[in-house]
Amino acid sequence: MKKRILVTGGAGFIGSHLCEHLLKEGDEVLCVDNFYTGRRGNIAHLLTNPYFEVMRHDICFPLYVEVDEIYNLACPASPVHYQFDPVQTIKTAVHGAINMLGLAKRLKAKILQASTSEVYGDPTIHPQPETYWGNVNPIGLRSCYDEGKRCAETLFFDYHRQHKLKIKVARIFNTYGPKMHPNDGRVISNFIIQALKGEDITVFGDGRQTRSFCYIDDMIYGIVKLMESPDDFTGPVNLGNPSEFSILELAEKVKQLTGSKSKIVFKPLPQDDPKQRQPDITLAKEKLDWKPMVDIEEGLKKTIEYFEALITKHVLL
Ligand code: NAD
Ligand code: UDP
Ligand code: UDP
Repeated sequence: MKKRILVTGGAGFIGSHLCEHLLKEGDEVLCVDNFYTGRRGNIAHLLTNPYFEVMRHDICFPLYVEVDEIYNLACPASPVHYQFDPVQTIKTAVHGAINMLGLAKRLKAKILQASTSEVYGDPTIHPQPETYWGNVNPIGLRSCYDEGKRCAETLFFDYHRQHKLKIKVARIFNTYGPKMHPNDGRVISNFIIQALKGEDITVFGDGRQTRSFCYIDDMIYGIVKLMESPDDFTGPVNLGNPSEFSILELAEKVKQLTGSKSKIVFKPLPQDDPKQRQPDITLAKEKLDWKPMVDIEEGLKKTIEYFEALITKHVLL
């Protein structure tokens, strides 16, 4: 039987890949998005599918629809965008979670939350296991997102304990790939576009801070495996690629793979920028039999091809 699945944030980077995957699996998909950072172009190719439907809606407001499962992805994810309107960001994270949990409660539907490695803040434990409670500044520029996502996790677990809701919480680490917004502001899209256009590659700080980057296809498999895991496994579970790089190494790799002559330049480090980040994925391996398969070089090449095509079509101009 076809499942009716709601994907909030379905026109965004991860959401649009998820909609495509679920439709391929034979499910019916309702994509709900307010197009704050998402793009119609990400889902345009799905619009002719009779089992795909798009609804423009802001999840800060109640939503009455009928579905069997909910993936709650709606929330700007890039620091540039989530800091542009921080009050809207925290409303999306918290009011949005309450509304989607209320919807799941009424429907007795299973609901998955796209949480984040940001719940660990600037971590003092490395790599980060799910048992680590984090090191988050509650009043800084990143707090609207970090604390919003932490509060959403609290809400998920309280609805689970109090109302017996079937919940799944994925702590997603840095993910990249085709369909990232060209003006997204995140490091991989910035570096690739700068390299392809021959502009300076902007490394923030001294570039020694680290991140671990997961290719989108691996992330989608992980998220779906989590949704399909037995009901007694709620997470939170880390999903990400443990292979860790400094941002300067990443800049050099992008330069090399694009064959670019761009200069690497250094810019001030944004406030509260985490110094290191690497997922401990022991739990995901054990409970979901999942681990990433695409290495950074292969993933970057596919992402570079995507942005090259956008530039050729003048989508960026
Ligand atoms: P994205 O910005 O591309 O997608 C977010 C989508 O949510 C966009 O389509 C946006 O228009 C929509 N949206 C925002 N606020 C909304 C609202 N109030 N109502 C309805 N729609 C709204 O980001 P992404 O990278 O695809 O991230 C998706 C989810 O995964 C987010 O919840 C994010 O926090 C989480 N996540 C992503 C990463 C990553 O590296 N990409 C890492 C950790 C967590
Ligand atoms: N809600 C929704 N769709 C539904 C059911 C509820 O958007 O189908 C919203 C509703 O607006 C409410 C929130 O979810 O504010 C939380 O619902 P819950 O049932 O937990 O709380 P209550 O309705 O008692 O405030
Ligand atoms: N960064 C950078 N140059 C850029 C954009 C980001 O050096 O043009 C750095 C940023 O300071 C951070 C890392 O790259 O240390 C990852 O940033 P991103 O915004 O992609 O995600 P974050 O993991 O910080 O949420």
